[in-house]
Amino acid sequence: MEITRPTDRGYAALRHVYARTGQPGSVLLPRSTAEVVEALGIVRSSGRPFSVRSGGHGISSIATNDGGDVIDLRWMASVEHRGGTHVRIGPGARWGAVAHELSPLGLAISSGDSGDVGVGGLATTGGVGLMGRAHGLTIDRLRSAEIVTADGRVHRVSETEDPDLFWAVRGAGANVGIVTSFDFEAAETSDVVQATVAYQPTDLAAFLVAWGRTVEEAAREVSAFLYIGAGPRPFAQATVVYAGDDLGAAVPELKRFVRLPGTAGQRSMVVPYSAVPLTSGAPHTGQQRAAAHTGLAVHLDDDLAARIAVLLRAGGAEMVQIRSVGGAVNDVHPDATAYAHRHQNFPVTAVSVDGGPAFDRAWEPVHERMDGMYLSFESDHRAEAVAEAFPPRTLARLRTLKARFDPDDVFDQNFDVTEAARSDG
Ligand SMILES: Cc1cc2nc3c(=O)[nH]c(=O)nc-3n(C[C@H](O)[C@H](O)[C@H](O)COP(=O)(O)OP(=O)(O)OC[C@H]3O[C@@H](n4cnc5c(N)ncnc54)[C@H](O)[C@@H]3O)c2cc1C
Repeated sequence: MEITRPTDRGYAALRHVYARTGQPGSVLLPRSTAEVVEALGIVRSSGRPFSVRSGGHGISSIATNDGGDVIDLRWMASVEHRGGTHVRIGPGARWGAVAHELSPLGLAISSGDSGDVGVGGLATTGGVGLMGRAHGLTIDRLRSAEIVTADGRVHRVSETEDPDLFWAVRGAGANVGIVTSFDFEAAETSDVVQATVAYQPTDLAAFLVAWGRTVEEAAREVSAFLYIGAGPRPFAQATVVYAGDDLGAAVPELKRFVRLPGTAGQRSMVVPYSAVPLTSGAPHTGQQRAAAHTGLAVHLDDDLAARIAVLLRAGGAEMVQIRSVGGAVNDVHPDATAYAHRHQNFPVTAVSVDGGPAFDRAWEPVHERMDGMYLSFESDHRAEAVAEAFPPRTLARLRTLKARFDPDDVFDQNFDVTEAARSDG
């Protein structure tokens, strides 16, 4: 197996991730499941801290480290059409590449707004995407997976094979092993209608309440992400996607978003779904220094909207992102997957370049109103955050599985459920 160390050529291109620079002692680059087993054996026997990396685009920035090892799955990036809607994807693929491979086949998998995000990180936690209200989370389309557990065993998991492990993979995959391949049931969608709308609201809180109501009232074919910049006169930009190419049905749905107060401009197009996730392909240099806090909201009510408006106007965060879930995401029973948040409508995420205590304090009034959390948008891994990501029943089941599949807590890097157990005393 290829192993790159600091003195080797090519190390510079492997050491960093999107939002953090790193200086690992070695980067192991497996090309097969057997080599992942070998890599895990090597890092376990070294006793040094290690990271698992798929796309390296995690907001958590834990896919690199200083002085430890990294298992980097970038060479396991195949996208294989296995007939019908069945697609097998390697963890190192990026969602932009997946969309481009599937588009000519008339297929698509809802992932997220960034095509640079890796398959492995997103498909083990959730996957809040721009066709989510139509097709569910990314994990809701997962039909089976292959995973290497801490003891080096390889499991094929599905509803019928190791169903407990399959349950854990869909929301807490990083706690139970390294996923080496994902089998999805893609949706038969090729073209979608995408609108980009700019807003300059005079009353941000009132605008957010109207935005929330509009999203909740929209047909489930509509998913809508809103990005609001900070400042005394906040501006916002939205990406709204109608999952389908029926213009007669799409246009009235998208018009609701253009009628919102403060609309400053809009552009709508029929595009292949592959044009939706924004993809730069830029190498990782730790370029995006950012901290993020996040939570889920059922509704954008007056009180929550006012708190978000204060956060932005006071400059407590550089940006707030409000994505949409609901629809097909909430058709799934909370106990069906380790991602249990199936009644909320909005992931709300605050982003700060500098992070730190001032950002934590500014977030707190919004945090108080949050109902659960999607861990992929959070850069704080304290035990309390683990308890927000996994409600009590989910956490209890995860701890039981953790004790069975990872008794030595080898996979302790990403929202470690054992940490939560410890903090409970
Ligand atoms: C610009 C940007 C936009 C984003 N937009 C969205 C969005 O719209 N919707 C959404 O849902 N998410 C979004 N995310 C969050 C993203 O889904 C997560 O950060 C995800 O973890 C990134 O996946 P990755 O493979 O690139 O991560 P990496 O940085 O490679 O990995 C992150 C962590 O995931 C775990 N992990 C990675 N691969 C595996 C594996 N094969 N098996 C087990 N565990 C693994 C490890 O603990 C690893 O440290 C966005 C992130 C960014 C930076």
